Amino acid sequence: MKKNILLLPGDGIGHEISKEAEKIFNWLDKNTNLEFEISKELIGGASIDEYGEPITNKVLNLAKKSDAILLGAVGGPKWEKLDFIKRPERGLLKIRKELDLFANFRPAIVFDALVSASSLKEEIISDLDIMIIRELTSGIYFGEPRGIEKISENIKKGFNTLVYHSDEIERIATVGFEIAMKRNKKLCSIDKANVLESTELWRDVVNDVSKKFPEIHLTHMYVDNAAMQLVRNPKQFDVIVTTNMFGDILSDCASMLTGSLGMLPSASLGEFNTGKKIRKAMYEPVHGSAPDIAGKNLANPLAMIQSIGMMLEYSFSSLDLNNLLKSCINNILNNGYRTEDIFSNSNEKKLGTSEMGDMLVKELEAS
Ligand code: NAD
Repeated sequence: MKKNILLLPGDGIGHEISKEAEKIFNWLDKNTNLEFEISKELIGGASIDEYGEPITNKVLNLAKKSDAILLGAVGGPKWEKLDFIKRPERGLLKIRKELDLFANFRPAIVFDALVSASSLKEEIISDLDIMIIRELTSGIYFGEPRGIEKISENIKKGFNTLVYHSDEIERIATVGFEIAMKRNKKLCSIDKANVLESTELWRDVVNDVSKKFPEIHLTHMYVDNAAMQLVRNPKQFDVIVTTNMFGDILSDCASMLTGSLGMLPSASLGEFNTGKKIRKAMYEPVHGSAPDIAGKNLANPLAMIQSIGMMLEYSFSSLDLNNLLKSCINNILNNGYRTEDIFSNSNEKKLGTSEMGDMLVKELEAS
């Protein structure tokens, strides 16, 4: 049966990397037993320009019906002056919230060939393989009340609310423990329980959930220490589970361990449907729309393509195909091919966005 994929290129480099994603779907269509029906729709600034809103109900309904969503990136300077509620990022937050995509998986894996692209020493990052699990539908990005208010003639107040309910913490903690069980049975929960009550509750609930997973070695760490430890000694971590905002920041920090934001994929998953092994899912690179390089054929498409790999594994149970994509990427990098963001010396061969996509298809053909 054909898999219905909703492709949402979004803005900026989202368009360029989505074209490369389509090349990979075409290859998969022709060469594997998976078949894809791709619907391409607008989100973010592109949707604002066309329809006056960052996502339309039609697109939201298509998202709900699709087998998986692949998103490029949203946002850009053109829409930065709009009210928060009308900005491109709201389209993305709406999909996450409406589909209840509460578990965001952000792997940070260092490919051997890119060890020198990291700003850290080789011994600190070689063989690095961390999974950061970020809570995605609650916390300070969604908490109410929020806003900017004028409180006197000269003073304004900006405020947001960091709120977590115990059931929200319980379900993301459970995902963290389940993934840790499949890996090295180590889980680090990151909070700021010393000063924020909502994350004191976070720590209590994670401890409660840990009773169901006695084999897992659980540790807790404050977020400020975690940021420092990620750079000092990242290999001490295996699976990290954390709140929405802390996960957002720490995973960007982890991206620099891997050499570039352009190398980091992500998956956002919902609950399993009762009785079925299906869950709503959206896949997207961690990076944004990169307005500084948009339209110049400079974007690295590998985060987007690895996001397809995560889709194949998590939504279509094809771990082998995810591994195939990763090994083809590894070969290309070992052969010295680089996009601008991971280019470090003249022995390497520089490729544009579309040439990197073509190179990957060539490598898949040869596999
Ligand atoms: P960004 O991730 O777009 O860019 C940060 C830096 O990384 C830039 O120098 C950019 O050129 C580089 N970069 C990012 N992706 C790259 C790639 N694939 N290949 C090569 N280089 C890459 O973050 P930003 O500049 O803070 O934000 C730009 C816009 O993107 C903003 O409007 C922001 O709100 C939005 N944004 C969207 C998402 C999303 O759609 N998920 C995530 C983050 C930021």
